[in-house]
Amino acid sequence: MDISINQINKIYQGGKKALKDVSIEMKRPDLIGLVGPNGAGKSTLMKLLVAELLPTAGEITVDGEDLLKNEIQMKASLGYLPQTFGLYDELTVYQFLDYMAALKGIKNGKEAIDTVIKETNLEEKRKAKIKTLSGGQRQRVGIAQAFLGNPGLLIFDEPTVGLDPEERINFRNLFSKKAEDKIVILSTHIIEDVQSICNRLIVLHEGRIRYDGTPEQLIVMAQEHVGIMEENKKEKAYHITARINTANGVMCRIVANELPTEAKPAEPTLEDAYMYLITREEVNG
Ligand code: ADP
Repeated sequence: MDISINQINKIYQGGKKALKDVSIEMKRPDLIGLVGPNGAGKSTLMKLLVAELLPTAGEITVDGEDLLKNEIQMKASLGYLPQTFGLYDELTVYQFLDYMAALKGIKNGKEAIDTVIKETNLEEKRKAKIKTLSGGQRQRVGIAQAFLGNPGLLIFDEPTVGLDPEERINFRNLFSKKAEDKIVILSTHIIEDVQSICNRLIVLHEGRIRYDGTPEQLIVMAQEHVGIMEENKKEKAYHITARINTANGVMCRIVANELPTEAKPAEPTLEDAYMYLITREEVNG
């Protein structure tokens, strides 16, 4: 499966330009972390990919054919976890997955459901009503329905929200296993999720792609722009990414276009590098 997003623009009713000239090529296997501040356009991009919204300009093709031409086929080979996901509270986990399997037109439903229940560790909850589940368990049901039928494209909007640290690690491993022969797109605020599993990072900011490459390359870009120094209330040409109270006062981890002379350079983390990219864009417009 090849997906090609060509020069997409999306203007909402009322005039909000949510995406501006966005182009992305995806081939499997690919595990893409999509990050950006709130309002950057991530959900809009995902809704366009699942044909829930139409672009104002530009096109999306799947294996060379227009997405909208093959919408039904595309939906059958797609697993999508939206950010707000309506679960049917009165149904049991199994009944809900059975309903979703029927909607997706999956033939051997029982086998498919058993597989995803196992993958998402929901065996003990298969007969539980959805309304009795915890937030993390509900999120697992959402992930399970996306996995149904083993689709070639998986799109997850904030999939690890609501999961505890152990569950988050389990899911990261599962996503990475899933991505061996698929295209997986994870939209996330959690940079650690990207760092640990994604081979590719796309940063959206104000509707434009600001970075598309490996997480490692972004870290290299931030080298010499990250430092540690004592808090200095007068100096403002930097962004603080962490503040640590020590016996000698407050030490700050900062990112800056040019490090202040008193700052001791530090090795950037992916989070620093992301902050550097975003704040640099703010400075440059
Ligand atoms: P993200 O998922 O990165 O937080 P969104 O794609 O939800 O960003 O939103 C991008 C921009 O488009 C924001 O400014 C948001 O307010 C706006 N927007 C999103 N949905 C709509 C809508 N249905 N109508 C008008 N504006 C919208």
